[in-house]
Amino acid sequence: MRILVVEDEAGLREGLIDLLQGDGHDVTAVGDGATAAATGIAESWDLVVLDLMLPRMNGMDVCRKLRGARPGMPILMLTARGSEDDKVRGLGEGADDYVTKPFSARELLARVRALGRRAPSEVTEQIDVDGAVLDFARLVVKRDGATTALTPREVGLLRWLHRQRGRAVSRSEILEQVFGQRGDLQTRAVDMAIVVLRKKVERDPAQPRIIVSIKGAGYAWGEDTP
Ligand code: CA
Repeated sequence: MRILVVEDEAGLREGLIDLLQGDGHDVTAVGDGATAAATGIAESWDLVVLDLMLPRMNGMDVCRKLRGARPGMPILMLTARGSEDDKVRGLGEGADDYVTKPFSARELLARVRALGRRAPSEVTEQIDVDGAVLDFARLVVKRDGATTALTPREVGLLRWLHRQRGRAVSRSEILEQVFGQRGDLQTRAVDMAIVVLRKKVERDPAQPRIIVSIKGAGYAWGEDTP
């Protein structure tokens, strides 16, 4: 398997690399959350082993970003002993399993092998909507023979909105759930991101049918679209 290891403690990181390489895996390791999110989104990994306490972006936020951009990618979280909250939250953020520190080599490898055998999650990788094809795996939208690139964040937003179809979502919810930020001041950033995204995916951005505005509430996936 191609495994991305995210651990800021150098000793443990080296230990994980040795252990996983010894088990026949191709291992890449990074030491902070921001690099982890970028690296994890840039490529599809067979498994991400993700520490929770990280500099520059915590493991929960990294997990949410990875889940948003690559829903089917298995994530194994490393949590501290006794922090039951972290386990629950981690699984809620989309981690597939967790191992509690300190763990034995045997325990970790057992979890890694179990996730490797697991069938990929049911993932929507392509949506045909209102004459457009949203290709999440290739990060593009195709319409009328033209192909337009989408950023990982735009794919995350589209995928998340599609999952919430049938209800209106607020700007602050998008900000928190998709962009991993808080604060009412930045909700304008959501509107700007939607404007840019509509230009890419909508037939007529002035008459959006895929990402519709709900007055007084925020946005919703278009009712008539799959
Ligand atoms: Ca750590």
